[in-house]
Amino acid sequence: MLTRLPKLLFAASILLVTAPTYAQNAQPKPKPEDTEIWKPEPKVVTPAAECNAPPSDAVVLFDGKNIDEWVNVKDGSAASWDVHDGVMTVNKKGGNIETKRSFKNYQLHVEYKIPASITGTGQGRGNSGIFLAGTGPGDDGYELQVLDGYNNPTYVNGMVGSLYKQAIPLANPSRKPGEWQAYDIAWTAPTFNEDGSVKTPAYATVFLNGVLVENHFELKGQTLYIGKPFYKKYDSAPVKLQAHGDKSEPMSFRNIWIRELP
Ligand code: MG
Repeated sequence: MLTRLPKLLFAASILLVTAPTYAQNAQPKPKPEDTEIWKPEPKVVTPAAECNAPPSDAVVLFDGKNIDEWVNVKDGSAASWDVHDGVMTVNKKGGNIETKRSFKNYQLHVEYKIPASITGTGQGRGNSGIFLAGTGPGDDGYELQVLDGYNNPTYVNGMVGSLYKQAIPLANPSRKPGEWQAYDIAWTAPTFNEDGSVKTPAYATVFLNGVLVENHFELKGQTLYIGKPFYKKYDSAPVKLQAHGDKSEPMSFRNIWIRELP
């Protein structure tokens, strides 16, 4: 009996040493709030008046007449968003839409309008988004946020002008709901090695209403609602527009064009 005592003491000491390790490994489930940043808020800037028509070498993705360059993401059928009065309005039931064409590096111009009658707050007020490389139905890639940014507080790394939960905009040049606003984006696609590892990261430069909001920002990977970003290998991908599930009035887009870069 006595000879067993040292063995028992040894076993007990192992338990005492290993017990805290188990506690440390049992981490809490990640939440969306874990990756939200609220302060400081980017300064408010009043933009000048004008928007841009497509230059000669642009591929026009939406000219106000039809939605032929776009399909529904969920099944590849004809895009179900509503074309009227030279604009297209989000059909929330129809879901996200994406371009038929795929792109690598590009310059993109997109105009959007949040309805004057918009209701809701924060992320539930005029939420849409431009997925700069939408790499699949359940894989939205890299979202440039579209959201009402006019007196609508939210976490600043998810406000309009943000690369969602990665890049806080350098300023807030939002116009009022009911006014047209313009995004101009330069996208440098990430490149990958054969084994899927990142060779060069993605970069985005973004102007909102003519004001620089992202300056050659290096992305850490895809923009995620929950958790830390990571890259997934792709070569070229469509541009995707978000039909967000919030309950506010649907927003509209017009004058969308793209220039592929060498
Ligand atoms: Mg969005």
